[in-house]
Amino acid sequence: EAILATKDISFNYPDGTKGLDDLSLTIPQGEKVVILGPNGAGKSTLFLHFNGILEPEQGSVFFEGQRISYDKQTLTNLRKKVGLIFQDPDEQLFSASVYQELSFGPLNLGLSKAKVKQRVIEAMKVTGISELEEKPTHLLSYGQKKRVAIAAVLAMKPKVIIFDEPTAWLDPQGAEEIISFLEELTANGITIVMATHDVDLAYKWADYVYIMNQGTKIASGIPSDVFQNK
Ligand code: ADP
Ligand code: ADP
Repeated sequence: EAILATKDISFNYPDGTKGLDDLSLTIPQGEKVVILGPNGAGKSTLFLHFNGILEPEQGSVFFEGQRISYDKQTLTNLRKKVGLIFQDPDEQLFSASVYQELSFGPLNLGLSKAKVKQRVIEAMKVTGISELEEKPTHLLSYGQKKRVAIAAVLAMKPKVIIFDEPTAWLDPQGAEEIISFLEELTANGITIVMATHDVDLAYKWADYVYIMNQGTKIASGIPSDVFQNK
C-alpha cells in the first residue's frame, strides 16, 4: 500500500555536495505526507528521485512496489503518474499561453485534441484560472503562475502529486486557498507529498510527517507523535 518508497538512497551532486544520505521512507497510498526540514535538508533532491529526474548512486526507489529502472519507457510512465510541482513556477512554465501550458502534457500522452481540451478546461476550472486561458504566462502574477503550474500537473491526472513548498511566497489567503484545494484532491484519492518549513501546517494538515536534515530522516510519525510538545 506504499505508492512510493525509497530504500537506503544516497546521492551527491557533481560538485560533491551531499544531497541524500542513506534515506529510507515510504509514502502510503492516498495519504497526505509532509516532508519538513530546513533549507538544504534534501527535500527537493528527494522529490527529483521520486519522478526519476535524478537516479540514486546507492539504494533504490519504488513506485507501487516496483523498483524503478531508468530506461526511457519506465521513466515516461512514471512521470505520467507522479506529478511534480516545483517551488518556483518560473522553473516549470515554458509555454506562451496558459492554454498551451496546460495542453502540453496531455498532448504528449497522445490524447485526442477533444480529450486534451476537456482536461485543460477541467484543470482550469478546479484551480480557478478559467479566465486566464488566453493569457501569456509571463504576464501572470506569482499566485496565478503557481495555479497554472498546479493545473498543468492536474491535467495529467497523476496518482501522486508532489509539491515543493506550495505556500512559499504566497500571502496567507493564497496559501489557505491552495491548502483547501489540496484537501479536495485527497478526497478524490490522490496521494500528496508536500515539502514545507511550516511546522503549524504540517501539524494541522498531514496524515504522516517526515523530518529531514542533512539529506536524511531524523524523525517520522503521525503529527501528534512527532510534535509532542505542541
Ligand atoms: P529554498 O532554499 O527553500 O529553495 P530560496 O530562497 O532558494 O528557497 O528560493 C526559492 C525560489 O523562490 C527561488 O527559485 C527564487 O527564485 C524564488 N523566489 C524568491 N523570492 C521570490 C519572490 N518574491 N517571488 C517569487 N519567487 C521568488
Ligand atoms: P531542500 O529542498 O530541503 O532545501 P535540496 O534538496 O535543495 O534541499 O538541497 C540539498 C543539498 O544539496 C543542499 O546542500 C543544497 O545546497 C545542495 N544542492 C541542491 N541542488 C544542487 C545542485 N544543483 N548542485 C549542487 N548542490 C546542490
